[in-house]
Amino acid sequence: MNKKDNFDVIVIGGGHAGTEACLASSRIGARTLLITQKLDTLGQLSCNPSIGGIGKGHLTKEIDALGGVMARAIDCAGIHFRTLNASKGPAVQATRAQADRGLYKKAIRGFLKAQSGLTIFEGTVEDLIIKNNNVESVLCVDGKYFVSKTIILTVGTFLGGKILIGSKSESAGRRGDPASNILADRLRELPFDVSRLKTGTPPRLAKDSLDYSVMTEQPGDYPSPVFSFIGERVEHPKQISCHITHTTSNTKNIIEKVMHKSAMYSGAIEGVGPRYCPSIEDKVERFSDRVSHQVFVEPEGLHSKEVYPNGISTSLPEESQKHFVRSIIGFEKAKITQYGYAIEYDYFDPRGLQPTLETKPITNLFFAGQINGTTGYEEAAAQGLLAGINAANKSLGLDSWFPKRDEAYIGVLVDDLITRGVSEPYRMFTSRAEYRLLLREDNADKRLTPIGRQLGLIDDKRWQTFNVKMEGIKNERKRLQSIHVKKEKLTNEDEKFFVDEYRRESSAFNLLQRPGFNYEKVESLSSVGSAKWPKTTSDELLEQIKLGIEVEALYAGYINRQTKEIEKQKKNEHLVLPKDIDYSSVTGLSNEAIDSLNKHKPFTLGQASRLEGITPSTLSILLVYIKKKYLKRAG
Ligand code: FAD
Repeated sequence: MNKKDNFDVIVIGGGHAGTEACLASSRIGARTLLITQKLDTLGQLSCNPSIGGIGKGHLTKEIDALGGVMARAIDCAGIHFRTLNASKGPAVQATRAQADRGLYKKAIRGFLKAQSGLTIFEGTVEDLIIKNNNVESVLCVDGKYFVSKTIILTVGTFLGGKILIGSKSESAGRRGDPASNILADRLRELPFDVSRLKTGTPPRLAKDSLDYSVMTEQPGDYPSPVFSFIGERVEHPKQISCHITHTTSNTKNIIEKVMHKSAMYSGAIEGVGPRYCPSIEDKVERFSDRVSHQVFVEPEGLHSKEVYPNGISTSLPEESQKHFVRSIIGFEKAKITQYGYAIEYDYFDPRGLQPTLETKPITNLFFAGQINGTTGYEEAAAQGLLAGINAANKSLGLDSWFPKRDEAYIGVLVDDLITRGVSEPYRMFTSRAEYRLLLREDNADKRLTPIGRQLGLIDDKRWQTFNVKMEGIKNERKRLQSIHVKKEKLTNEDEKFFVDEYRRESSAFNLLQRPGFNYEKVESLSSVGSAKWPKTTSDELLEQIKLGIEVEALYAGYINRQTKEIEKQKKNEHLVLPKDIDYSSVTGLSNEAIDSLNKHKPFTLGQASRLEGITPSTLSILLVYIKKKYLKRAG
């Protein structure tokens, strides 16, 4: 050991969780060190070159609303932006962007470089020094060691990582990077519940070897959606199209014949893979009645010679990959530049974590990202941000913070992980949230930026922009509510907007609730006209304000109802369950409930409600017991 330095927070691993963790921690004012294997891989997208999508876009916007960098990076690196579910309600609409890999890395490095209070060190951690169940320092393979008040581990798929293609397997964290085997062995000696999971990636193809004339072109949306609440369209690089093609009956036949050679089906893998992101072998097996599956041909970058065929992740042997790839429409002459593979790695049962992401067995040690059983950049980044906040706050003697299920998808993610654990790699979906109408992409800033400001994550510029937006929505709502549009006041031109049944007086704001009306239409009525906006209001901010007003008008009734329901449940949801409670002594609980509660030791009554074996009657019994035994004692 030849170097000793003291930090408030050390983050191990510079992936998506690690970068958000170290940036959040530094922004809060903690002296932070990021140790990562290779500086060159900072900001690397290990698999698909894209950010966002349903559920994941929501997480990205929440990270942004708390001052994180993922949305800002993709605004600088996105080469194809779309709003998914654009024809559906705003709760399930989501932004997704294809990234230029090089530009994404460049943007992330730019943010890291510009961050004050952050030191970055290239090194591989091989051990955590723990005394009396408290983590104190980290030791690197070259003998350097660093002391810190708190440590966040975010080493992704690298712990005992094993790449598999057909019958071949090799140790690796992902292609091109060594696995962290010494650290994995050491962590297995500690009191954590370790298991294996797997994920996979498709082969990459030479861009020029494909026949795009037989595929469907999919251009991005125009004008392109902007990801960050403070982003601007001018930041977007040149936009290019994706393409869609299909596998054929021949693809199915080929895969069926060689299925037994796939690493996933030969028994070579013990870990469970993501059901929602199946390999092509899984698709052929599970949906055997379907002859064809969609393949999205996604560019890897503006100048990249490779494309990413999304939908055909595989661990078949190389020869079989070549064979089935060429049976796909437009891929008849495809050249494979890198073969697809599966990767198996260690993860820790997230039920061993507190809601702050600090581990229960070892004090001051936090886990974030793929090592907690999730999959996806956005899920990792969200956890990184949360761990960064809490590790920094703990080291500075400040209060911890974590969002609840009705406040953020980040709250849903963490609560699901720590109460239910995972049986396969966990990814976010909007269906996981009970309060979808409240947790929209468009209001992530309204929900979280004021909290972020209090936590020290939001700089003055972002705070000012946020306030301009909120003021804008408030003032414009007032203006529209005060304008009454009467039929006799309408010009012939205006009248075309009114269908017969609506020919009665209405406030301009209420008009927004009528089918066929949006902000633009209402604004164009001569009795309404346009509002006066401060000169400094950018087009993008104005779009956010208009959308905010539309959504408020359209969903006011539903939102009020949902808010009341939450208020009712809140009283009990956040009731903290005493740590020393022995559930076997609570009369009336079923054995199943006792086992589940004693095993998971839920933090709140709300968490208890989501455990297996817990029924509404269990909760009533618990509530009465706690009120009688503990609240009386406290009073
Ligand atoms: P990572 O991004 O993996 O970052 C880990 C970081 O830790 C790396 O920088 C690494 O160098 C560093 N590190 C590791 N060990 C040490 C050490 N001992 N000391 C110092 N630094 C260390 N996600 C999807 O959503 N869909 C998919 O289809 C999908 N497929 C995938 C396929 C493959 C082959 C791989 C590898 C990943 C895939 N992912 C997929 C997952 C996605 O890449 C991860 O969810 C995401 O990158 C996790 O972020 P993270 O920050 O937890 O870890």
